[in-house]
Amino acid sequence: AEMDVDTIWHNGEYVDWEDATTHVLTHGLHYGTGVFEGVRAYDTEEGTAVFRWEEHLDRFYESTKPYDMEIPYTREEITEATMEVIRRNDLDSAYVRPIAYYGYNSLGVSPGDCPTDVAIAAWPWGAYLGDDALENGIKAMVSSWRKHSSSQIPTNAKTTGLYVNSLLAGEEARRNGYKEAIVLNKEGNVAEGPGENIFLVRDGELFTPGLSESILDGITRNTVIELARERGYTVHDNVSISRGELNTADELFFTGSAAEVTPIRQVDNVEIGNGSRGPITEELQTAFFDLVERRTDDHEEWFTYV
Ligand code: PMP
Repeated sequence: AEMDVDTIWHNGEYVDWEDATTHVLTHGLHYGTGVFEGVRAYDTEEGTAVFRWEEHLDRFYESTKPYDMEIPYTREEITEATMEVIRRNDLDSAYVRPIAYYGYNSLGVSPGDCPTDVAIAAWPWGAYLGDDALENGIKAMVSSWRKHSSSQIPTNAKTTGLYVNSLLAGEEARRNGYKEAIVLNKEGNVAEGPGENIFLVRDGELFTPGLSESILDGITRNTVIELARERGYTVHDNVSISRGELNTADELFFTGSAAEVTPIRQVDNVEIGNGSRGPITEELQTAFFDLVERRTDDHEEWFTYV
């Protein structure tokens, strides 16, 4: 199925959607050796604005480091290409997907002389888990799959190969009638969702697994921590959360560039709180959308206008 976009940037050129292809012997296709970002641009009063672009760009380059991969374009070039892709496709709001991957040279596991290919696409994308999810929350299933330990693969690098685990967990959840999975780490503590970080509210305070719990250092996670602290909440962002604490939470929610702030109303067979979006979740979700759609003028430094 063709997306409603005309132009994709690929290795320095703007190409038509149908020409943005790669060879079947691409290293990244065989071994999962790509790094990518998922970024949102919002339709604001002052025009289309990419949210926290600089932080996404930081993570994009940082993700290459364990793989000794060199993105052969500067930050300025990647930025210009991204803004231009949004402009050329006439998008008011968009989900933006920059990806860098080992391309084709020879097909050993060692990338050898494989080039680093880079592409940037953007397309319209609504609520990741559905509009209803934002308002009423979702049912999540604790996955039988554990997340890779950060001692097995760098979980703080946003690497394509990692998402095989996300697919296993997410599809298992959906096969069982749930919208999304919650994935425990190798120690059995709560890590994150397949593509989201997770927050717990208890007695008016917020808790989210620390960076050493084998999670991605989410930019939405960081945003919500800041928004919550600015509103006077205590946020514990360097803790371990046991599985049982999910059941006794007053509120739970996911965060992510795609998922934004999505309430979780049920975990396995247990209703969370009163089984709907909790009040602190709602307050922070409202703060988040007011921020990204620029109904407030705080954190102007987080916006790059297209
Ligand atoms: N964890 C994982 C595994 C993810 O894929 C994502 C989405 N990038 C997140 C957390 C949330 O990160 P962010 O808020 O930066 O999108």
